Amino acid sequence: MKILVVGGAGYVGSHTVRLLQSQGHEVWVFDNFSRGHRESVPSRCLIEGNLTDRALLIEVMRDKEIDAVMHFAAFALVGESVQHPAMYYQNNVSATFELLEAMRSVGVWRFVFSSTTATYGQPEKMPISEDTPQNPINPYGFTKLVVERALEDYAHAYGFGVAALRYFNASGAAADGTIGEDHDPESHLIPIVLQVALGQRPNVSIFGNDYPTPDGTCIRDYIHVDDLASAHLAALMKLQPNSVLQMNLGTGVGHSVLQVVEACRKVTGHPIPTVDAPRREGDPACLIADSTKAQRELQWKPKYVAIEDIVSTAWKWHQSHPRGYAS
Ligand code: UDP
Repeated sequence: MKILVVGGAGYVGSHTVRLLQSQGHEVWVFDNFSRGHRESVPSRCLIEGNLTDRALLIEVMRDKEIDAVMHFAAFALVGESVQHPAMYYQNNVSATFELLEAMRSVGVWRFVFSSTTATYGQPEKMPISEDTPQNPINPYGFTKLVVERALEDYAHAYGFGVAALRYFNASGAAADGTIGEDHDPESHLIPIVLQVALGQRPNVSIFGNDYPTPDGTCIRDYIHVDDLASAHLAALMKLQPNSVLQMNLGTGVGHSVLQVVEACRKVTGHPIPTVDAPRREGDPACLIADSTKAQRELQWKPKYVAIEDIVSTAWKWHQSHPRGYAS
């Protein structure tokens, strides 16, 4: 297929691009590099542009005879979304609408969308299955939910075939260590812990130690970025006109912040000091995926389940790229 990967120079996008290319698909990356990295994808497939430029999107889709769009180009930080909601409504909702309208003009109907566990908010029951009510508790989660709803309507009214993939905590890096996670500033747990192991930070702050969890720290479901990529490919192959797939992508196993730090100590051999810090606003105590639906309907299974294996790939990337793509 000829696939337009919007936001393909970002973390999950770049790993998906690599997988799609390895499977023989023709891939075009559309990115404005506001958060993505040119170095993360082959330059021959790069198209620089903004999602708000509907005319350019239409031209690209026509010119490249695009069959499908994968959309990774969103802001994805909870705290930032609380402080700057306008950015989130503009980029995650309004710009996505331009993309959908460009597709509709050209007649491209296949769409795979990066959604998130943040659309569920703080559910009581674990693990989280797809029929858990979606009650987001921050603008980030809400912007993703708005797009999910729009996609249902586009599928129903305009014949789109869509997949909304609700990621849990994307983590790890390509097994060969050549591409990986690089955010500026970094706010995610595993890269921050590994920066301590590299000597770039003195310690890791543990955001809250009095949550209702066995060790008092938050529990998350860490899923390897290449497993997210393989789910995108599987979902793409399942798309049908007028249909909607909505799936959780996680391993089904939760790890607390302290367990992640311990796994990083084991992998790096570094003592990794921690300091207790206040809770981070908006953090649910526990998020674990029930991803049996994706496993059943996509015949997909995460290859990485052990947290040490996920951390090992991230460690390989961070060691070889201590300053990220600028290394
Ligand atoms: N966390 C932490 N210290 C840090 C960064 C993160 O204790 O320096 C915690 C955070 O509060 C959350 C978990 O680690 O409970 C995962 O956070 P991350 O930002 O990686 O992902 P999120 O779950 O927010 O998408």
